[in-house]
Parts: sequence; C-alpha cells; structure tokens
Amino acid sequence: MEVLRTIAELRQHTSRWHVEGQTIGLVPTMGALHDGHLSLIKIAQQKCNRVIATIFVNPRQFLPDEDFEEYPRDEDRDIKKLVEMGVDLLFAPNASEMYQPDASTTVVISKLTDCLCATSRPGFFDGVGTVVTKLLIQALPDIAIFGEKDYQQLLIIKRLARDLDIPAQIIGAPTIREADGLAVSSRNVYLSQNNRETASNVFKILKKTATTIALGNDILVACEEARSELIFAGFSGIDYFEARHSKTLELIEKFETSGRLFAAVWLGSTRLIDNLEIKDYTD
Ligand code: AMP
Repeated sequence: MEVLRTIAELRQHTSRWHVEGQTIGLVPTMGALHDGHLSLIKIAQQKCNRVIATIFVNPRQFLPDEDFEEYPRDEDRDIKKLVEMGVDLLFAPNASEMYQPDASTTVVISKLTDCLCATSRPGFFDGVGTVVTKLLIQALPDIAIFGEKDYQQLLIIKRLARDLDIPAQIIGAPTIREADGLAVSSRNVYLSQNNRETASNVFKILKKTATTIALGNDILVACEEARSELIFAGFSGIDYFEARHSKTLELIEKFETSGRLFAAVWLGSTRLIDNLEIKDYTD
C-alpha cells in the first residue's frame, strides 16, 4: 500500500485508475482506526476495484476548546491495519498540504445545520463540509462511504455532494457497536473503566426509548424520561436527546417509520454521540 502525502501524487494515481476503467471507493477518516472504519473499507472493497483510505485530523472541525491536540494519533498502527485489509492507497496529507496559509474558502451548508451537533459544536460542519468537499474533489472517487454513527454528518455530506454536482455517490454504512452496544469510536479511549461501563447506557436508553415510541407512547415524554435516565446512569451532561425525521432532521411529534433518535452526552470531558432508527426492538 502506498502512503501519499500530496494532492498531486493522489491525482496521478486516480487519473491512471480512471483511464484504466477502475472504480474507486474513498473512505475518509481521522485515523485511530477501529472496527467502524474497517467496516466502511470492507463496503468500499465490495463495491469498487480500488480503495483509498484517508487519514487527516482536520483542524478546521475542532473548536478552540476541543480535543484537537489530544485526539488519538497512531499512523504506524493504522497503516498496519490498512495493509492487512488490502487497501490500495492511504492519503495522509499534513495540514499545510490541505490548507494554504491564505485559504479563504469554506463550504457552508445552510440546511440540516440548525440542530443537533451543529448547535452544540458551532462551525463544526463548516470544517467537515470543507474538508470532505476537498477530499472528494482531490480523489474524484466513484463512491465515498460514511458511517451512520455520525448521521447528521452523513446527511450533510450527501446534500453537499448533490448541491455541488460532485460526481461521487455517497453511501451510508451501519454503526458498528461493542458487545454491550456502545458505538465504536476513536474517542472511547478517553473513557475510564467506570465511565466505559456507564457509556453503554446510551445505546440501551436509545433502544428502550425507540421501542417506547414505536409502541405508541408520547415522544416528548419518552425523550424527557430518557434524559432523566441518562443523568441517573451517571452522565454529566446532555447536549441533546431528541426524535427527528431521518431525512429532514425536523423534530417529529408523533411516531413515523422515518423517525430517528439522536443523542449527544457527556461523561466528564468526553462527548459521545449515537443515534438509532425508531422501531420496536423487543424480540
Ligand atoms: P472519524 O475518523 O471519527 O472521523 O470517522 C471516519 C468515518 O468512520 C466517518 O464516516 C464515521 O461516521 C465512520 N465511523 C466512525 N465510527 C463508526 C462506527 N462505530 N461504525 C461505523 N462507522 C463509523
């Protein structure tokens, strides 16, 4: 697997692949690779002849008080995993390759960004939108895979690719979970043993609330109960726990099949997000 640091090298490879008629799948990540990332790579490999993974801890999507410096980085370990998976190319540019010192352009998404993580992390989706647009234009893949774990991000990326006529199909992939239901995340390494146990309650409460709503109970009451249960379970804060439409992200007031629950919670200084389709999960 070749490791490329420059956009020019990346373009050389992708141009050649296009001429050869190869199909290209792109899997953008911030590294610290885990089973969630690897599942996206498997999907790309099933759908394309060539797979490019990218690792870039994008400074533009961290707020000044967020964990940009501490964000877990282990490129050697990531490279081993990608080689084992049979990935064709790793594109891992540094920040100066991605952003010119006088860079003046930001991709701002105006819909889907008035709620959830856009509210609790202002500017976050401008950073995501800008870097993903750049990666899509740099690699010009046939498809790009993003996780449903970051569901609002997935919708926003689909929207920006459509709006900007970027000729790549954006594909969503299911959330990979630990045995106890916790969504796998690079940030889970921040959790102490105690907090790790508490963390599994996010999924349990999402599942229970989804079932409660699917069985016909009041959505606002169910979400209010879920927030109380999260605090009782030991979470130190809740950014949101809400039921929204899975395409428009508008709040929903009564159960519908396209409803989804969204949660963002704090355990000390670690923020966890998760989401789940609203349906009856009783066996
Ligand atoms: P990140 O490195 O956290 O920016 O994530 C890179 C990609 O992996 C994004 O498309 C995420 O949605 C996806 N991803 C992260 N965690 C998971 C997970 N547990 N299951 C599936 N995809 C995930």
